Amino acid sequence: LTRLYGPLTALSNVRVDVMSALVSFDRVFEVLDLRPGITEKPGATPIPAGTGRVEFRDVRFRYPSADQVSLATLEDVTTLDRTENPEVLSGIDFTVEPGRMVALVGPSGAGKSTLSMLLSRVYDVTGGAVLIGGVDVRDATVDSLRDTIGVVTQDSHLFHETIKDNLRYARPGATEEQMWSALTGARIAALVRALPDGLDTMVGERGHRFSGGEKQRLAIARVLLKQPSIVILDEATAHLDSESEAAVQRALTEALRGRTALVIAHRLSTIRDADEILVLDQGRIVERGRHEELVAAGGLYADLYRTQFAAAIPYPPRSSDVPVP
Ligand code: ATP
Repeated sequence: LTRLYGPLTALSNVRVDVMSALVSFDRVFEVLDLRPGITEKPGATPIPAGTGRVEFRDVRFRYPSADQVSLATLEDVTTLDRTENPEVLSGIDFTVEPGRMVALVGPSGAGKSTLSMLLSRVYDVTGGAVLIGGVDVRDATVDSLRDTIGVVTQDSHLFHETIKDNLRYARPGATEEQMWSALTGARIAALVRALPDGLDTMVGERGHRFSGGEKQRLAIARVLLKQPSIVILDEATAHLDSESEAAVQRALTEALRGRTALVIAHRLSTIRDADEILVLDQGRIVERGRHEELVAAGGLYADLYRTQFAAAIPYPPRSSDVPVP
């Protein structure tokens, strides 16, 4: 643990201005899947291995204000009095059974990212509770929480280290064989193999620059290496060319198979496949159900579907999308 967090502990020990602190949280947690500096209660409970059941019980959340964060160290953030700050999530109540996929949709600013960040303790709730396998995430050991959750976004962060080092954040003891197997599942092995230094290729400004779709596939390779029970996926809007998009989609299918998934959804194929769609608006769940039911209900989801999703080209095309000759 110390080795993983070593280069990053500075982040949690210094006073930081609000923007850089929050950007760093988001960036770093994509790699480590948890916020550095997260605290563990004495006598914390491990989340049982392989548990993928997620429960949000009447969750409420207020962000700390910019002033408060600039006055606090990152550890202190949880103890600040935020009653004056706007509530950005209220009465959030849902359960995701193991292996199921819940899609979060809603207008910009509805609270989708905030909700996903409460599961991995980027922030802690200010009311209610988030449980994994029946354990309140605030009572869980940090190691078990990190082992349980994997995070993939479309703008996943890579450190200026070798590909091998970047993969080892997901699984420190991973062998090269396991790495190649994960890269193959993530549809990025051929590209890495073609690089002169293969797994030892340096990443970033002074090394190999990966495109958005390639970075995302490396993030998926981390999930395949780590084998978490729960995946948080933010499909948000990097514009991938169609070849990249297809490869990412195939890699995601592999990464999500058999795992509980909480997806901030932007793809038609995702919302159609979701076991439940939660429609958020102004911090509340205003509609919930499956795609067909929500379209038929003619409410906010039906509007969003018409304006955002229906125009998107589904990949891979479903048999029902292919015109019958
Ligand atoms: P988008 O689709 O645009 O990403 P979203 O549904 O994910 O939006 P959030 O990013 O979760 O919405 O934002 C929910 C609310 O919380 C918004 O009102 C937003 O302005 C506010 N908010 C987000 N991040 C912070 C922050 N770090 N500090 C204070 N308020 C924040």
